[in-house]
Amino acid sequence: MVEAKEIIKVYGSFRALDRVSVDVYDGEKVVIIGPSGSGKSTLLRSINRLEEIDRGTIVVDGMDLYDPKTDITKVREEVGMVFQSFNLFPHKTVLENLTLAQIVVRKRTKQEAEEKAMTLLERVGLAAKAKSYPGKLSGGQQQRVAIARSLAMDPKLMLFDEPTSALDPEMIGEVLDVMKDLARDGMTMAVVTHEMGFAREVADRVIFMDAGRIVEEGTPEHFFTAPTHERAKLFLSQIL
Ligand code: ADP
Ligand code: MG
Repeated sequence: MVEAKEIIKVYGSFRALDRVSVDVYDGEKVVIIGPSGSGKSTLLRSINRLEEIDRGTIVVDGMDLYDPKTDITKVREEVGMVFQSFNLFPHKTVLENLTLAQIVVRKRTKQEAEEKAMTLLERVGLAAKAKSYPGKLSGGQQQRVAIARSLAMDPKLMLFDEPTSALDPEMIGEVLDVMKDLARDGMTMAVVTHEMGFAREVADRVIFMDAGRIVEEGTPEHFFTAPTHERAKLFLSQIL
């Protein structure tokens, strides 16, 4: 689904990504961890071309992101992204938040879009909130709406950038449950998170980044029991 080779991303003279290569296979769940500033967000954003890379290649579902013939709108439709901040439209209802892009980008009728939206709201346990405004919802509920809104575009790949980092502790579980459900359903996922329980349970592969590089990569069993890189050992000793 994703083939990134030797990506370099610089800000001024600083390398935020320093020759990062990563593949994500169809149906695979990859969890990316690492200290703050190690390039995790920059990597995820590059996959959606929200960030322009300076060197290297990225191919998403057969589409080369830097081939002038590639339609980036299509890439963005195929790649759903969920951020720490939910970014819902505050003056639109939950239902409208889910239908807007379906109607405008996917050219679905209002009825089609609403049916799809309601199915997804059921799935994240929020059908009863369809007519509410985001401001009336808890952070956990808003993030579940944001995930449903992403899913409404029928993405082939979902990228999550610290989806629970802005939430009160009691709301983290309900968002992780939605993500676990998605994982069981076979979605291809790349998730940046500090939730190590989620990583152990869901990840097929854990990637550890440090200073713009992938310095350790393996199964959760390997990563949590026998990391070899000093920075990974230090990180785990601090977080676990
Ligand atoms: P992470 O998500 O792992 O915390 P980021 O990918 O956000 O790390 O950032 C990696 C590095 O790139 C950090 O040192 C950050 O300060 C720097 N950086 C990120 N975005 C920008 C930007 N727009 N301008 C300058 N530096 C940036
Ligand atoms: Mg980040």
